[in-house]
Amino acid sequence: MRRNNFYFKSFQLVILSVLLTMMSACSYFPAIAPIDQNDSEERPPVHVEGYPVATFFPDLNIDFKEEKIVTEHATPPVKEEVNEGDQKSMRIALTFDDGPDLKYTPRILDILKEKNVKATFFVVGIQVNKYPEVVQRMEDEGHMIGNHSYSHPSFTKLTKEQLKQEIDETDEKIQAAIGYTPEIVRPPYGAINDEVRAELESYGKQVIIWNIDPRDWDGNSVEDMLDNILTNARDGGNILLHSFGSKHVENTVKLLPTAIDRLEELGYIFVTIDEL
Ligand code: ZN
Repeated sequence: MRRNNFYFKSFQLVILSVLLTMMSACSYFPAIAPIDQNDSEERPPVHVEGYPVATFFPDLNIDFKEEKIVTEHATPPVKEEVNEGDQKSMRIALTFDDGPDLKYTPRILDILKEKNVKATFFVVGIQVNKYPEVVQRMEDEGHMIGNHSYSHPSFTKLTKEQLKQEIDETDEKIQAAIGYTPEIVRPPYGAINDEVRAELESYGKQVIIWNIDPRDWDGNSVEDMLDNILTNARDGGNILLHSFGSKHVENTVKLLPTAIDRLEELGYIFVTIDEL
């Protein structure tokens, strides 16, 4: 009887181990969205001087149809060991694309300042050229700045020369605004392939995508966006938001204070991309 009991308990332990192994394996293979590296949808070219294939957006009218999550950043980051008593070590980054502007970006900066949160802004050269003082404010208030192209084209549709021009021209405008050029680049729409990545890296740039996307440009409600962020939040989270480019950025401004408070309640600290 005792012997049978021993075998039964051993059997239970084996089954339990197998189940635990399967569960932990599953958690490392989250649902992955397909990469569309050859986004074939044609966008009407808009002429910007010196940028023949640019799809420049007029104020408040960016076409975000191609914006999508890119798979390589969908994998959860390796969690670092948490020391006892160091429960506040979960890091998360707020990133804001497409600015600067004078309507939304300053209000976002006001909120970040009030909440004492540092964020990362991926700025567009055309906008930097118009509002360098807003980029200066980002810098003065401790935020990180990244290059998000000059005219917001899909990098996978450019020649190498055009790609270089998009990066260089934006770097020049950022340099003129704050005195240095950023080391990070976020491709518009997250459109990237091996060739573009290699090219950007040959300029000394690090490519940064995102892994949490509440689709703020798409007119989602504040509640839905908050739910998306809180559901997907994790150590190493990189949240895509916008500070310009759509009338729906109004909702981003409304969302921000609550999102910051709720994430802080969950133990997250806000960091810039270089600290993630
Ligand atoms: Zn963008």
